[in-house]
Amino acid sequence: MFSDLPTHAPDKILQLMQMFREDTRTDKIDLGVGVYKNAEGQTPVMRAIKAAEKKLWEVETTKSYVALAGAPDYNDAMVKLVLGDAVARDQVASVATPGGTGAVRQSFELVKMVNPDATVWYSNPTWGNHVSILKYLGVANKAYRYFDAASGTVDFDGMIADLNSAKPGDVVLLHGCCHNPTGANLTAEQWQTVVDTLLAKELLPMIDVAYQGFGDGLEEDAAGLRLVASSVPETLIAASCSKNFGVYRERTGILMAVSADKGKVGPAQANLAYLNRQNYSFPPDHGARLVSMILTDDALLADWKAELEEVRLGMLELRQQLADELRRLTNTDRFDFIARHRGMFSMLGLTEDQIVTLREEHGIYAVSDSRINIAGLNTKTVPILAKAVAEVVG
Ligand code: PMP
Repeated sequence: MFSDLPTHAPDKILQLMQMFREDTRTDKIDLGVGVYKNAEGQTPVMRAIKAAEKKLWEVETTKSYVALAGAPDYNDAMVKLVLGDAVARDQVASVATPGGTGAVRQSFELVKMVNPDATVWYSNPTWGNHVSILKYLGVANKAYRYFDAASGTVDFDGMIADLNSAKPGDVVLLHGCCHNPTGANLTAEQWQTVVDTLLAKELLPMIDVAYQGFGDGLEEDAAGLRLVASSVPETLIAASCSKNFGVYRERTGILMAVSADKGKVGPAQANLAYLNRQNYSFPPDHGARLVSMILTDDALLADWKAELEEVRLGMLELRQQLADELRRLTNTDRFDFIARHRGMFSMLGLTEDQIVTLREEHGIYAVSDSRINIAGLNTKTVPILAKAVAEVVG
């Protein structure tokens, strides 16, 4: 019976959104949900997306199916955006997917097909859906140490020690940039050590990149994953266009399987297309088409890059302002890491009780693990948050 179906733990971020909606205070601040917001609290349609949509309406003559792997133009443009010149195009099998989540899910399904005995190692903590999908699919999974909450930095020795205990053929799930939820990222040197570990232990990297361009820049944010993809025999990459193109609801993503050996992409390509067919047949095309129109048109590309850069620099300024305010108010360097973190999120290292106090007494909504969305702030709310945080840690 349907009524006998199990209940599922609700998504804590969606629950928080609900609580925020029901809060009648007019000065409440939402730092929970993971979408970009500008200083006015809006998640705007990017200018280049608007322009591409207008053009598409004029030139599109059919809505007939495209291809199981998605439009070739989209695949080519995204492989170039993510991988640059790190590998040749014919080393990459790829399919368009419904968002980054579709790519993440199918990468785990591919892992199951390639090596049913593989354990997928994920960072502690990671994006909640990673673990939830792994469990749902019945893929063995284990956490590796990643975040040192006391210092707000990566516990790199712990990470490498844990990866050294993985067995050959295991999968290491890495965030390409802008780690969600911590905001703490690997340095170039650390990426190289990760590569050495992957090679020494014969591990398969699976890289999730959902915020390219939100951290240090489009090219900079892809440097780590490019190093991995050009150094190890095989790499899986799941990329999302939701944030950097602002096309959340269009469900636009891509799954790539990179091989050092060019002769090997045929079976990977066939299996990625097969996975699309089993799961949803043809992937959504609208968002993907807008993205490829932008990436292949000089004027649209320049405008998109300019707007993305405004978004990135705006978040960096908010980070600096918040770190400065907290340094002043707490008289310590405890929160300096906020300025060093990159991407939309930082984990503040507060207790669950302190997060509840922020919500109940100050109307500030952060996730219970103390993740805040930097883009939920503006220059006027940063001092309010800093004062409240200083008070609760006081
Ligand atoms: N990976 C990570 C780390 C994310 O934060 C997100 C978005 N929250 C995704 C993947 C997937 O995003 P989407 O499916 O909306 O493209």
